[in-house]
Amino acid sequence: MPANPPMIEVRRSAIQGNGVFATRRIRSGTRIIEYVGELIDNDEADRRYDDEAMGRHHTFLFAIDEEISLDGGRNGNESRYINHSCDPNCDAIDEDGHIFIFACRTIAQGEELTYDYAYERDGDEDEDTIRRYTCRCGTRSCRGTILAPLKAKRTRKRR
Ligand SMILES: [Zn+2]
Repeated sequence: MPANPPMIEVRRSAIQGNGVFATRRIRSGTRIIEYVGELIDNDEADRRYDDEAMGRHHTFLFAIDEEISLDGGRNGNESRYINHSCDPNCDAIDEDGHIFIFACRTIAQGEELTYDYAYERDGDEDEDTIRRYTCRCGTRSCRGTILAPLKAKRTRKRR
């Protein structure tokens, strides 16, 4: 038995599919888990995941930079199930090339963990694309899409 029981678990989420939930109270600032996976380039990501064919966004990719993503679908862990929210309780922070999920506020036992995917966008996405990234987080500050707000220049999950 591990000395410390895990602070998170994966189960069905009301947002979509599986989600990650706190098994106990997690204090703000806690480093919860590393986002791990296979490092792949954009061409390989496109081969593995065809969002247009799938009709909606559904990948485990996390963009490290404009060329390289982590594919949590290969050699990944529970972190790949953390859903997007427009009013998240976690943040993904790059520390020397390693992505860690931190609690950005105190999370209650049983609460679902979320962070803002803030997918990069160039501003000329068509309606189909925007529909594919519809947000269902249900928070009051929901902006209606998983895509980043226009003008925001952030490197987050790859789309
Ligand atoms: Zn939302």
